[in-house]
Amino acid sequence: MGRYSYSQPSSSDCNGYLVDEESSQPSESSAYNYADSELELGFPKKCYCGVEPIIDTCYSRNDPGRKFFSCGNIDDGECHIWKWWDVAVMEEMRATETNYGKVASKVDTLTHYETELSEIKHLKKETDEKINKLEKLLAELNTKNRVFIFSLELVLGVLLCLVAVLCLIMFK
Ligand SMILES: [Zn+2]
Repeated sequence: MGRYSYSQPSSSDCNGYLVDEESSQPSESSAYNYADSELELGFPKKCYCGVEPIIDTCYSRNDPGRKFFSCGNIDDGECHIWKWWDVAVMEEMRATETNYGKVASKVDTLTHYETELSEIKHLKKETDEKINKLEKLLAELNTKNRVFIFSLELVLGVLLCLVAVLCLIMFK
């Protein structure tokens, strides 16, 4: 599974010809294990020769009607792409599933941040309200303080006047 052959499977198979059951699959030696190579997963986009891969149908007894990716230049004796179409589909589906998982995880993270942001906004609102209350309290205290100082000054003034009057009476 998941083979991504570097060349046509030797004698094997699904070049569009009916072949022996035993040779209907790419042999282990001729196939490249994608896990060990840097070859792309999923649908191949380009053959090693540079052309776009074609989809062909297998007519072997083991895999009749099974589709595979091949190359139009297959007869030139060079290395060309070869991969089962259903294997590529499975790889694409796995990749999509992985991507879906990543997106879901990011959505979770964003939702978490959204909740935190909402909490922060709520805290800010509460803090603003407390600051407003404190400012009002401070203004009230300032007013009371001014009244107290004025009263104190008045009392002192009256006392001074009384002392002055007493002095005048005593030293007359
Ligand atoms: Zn090719």
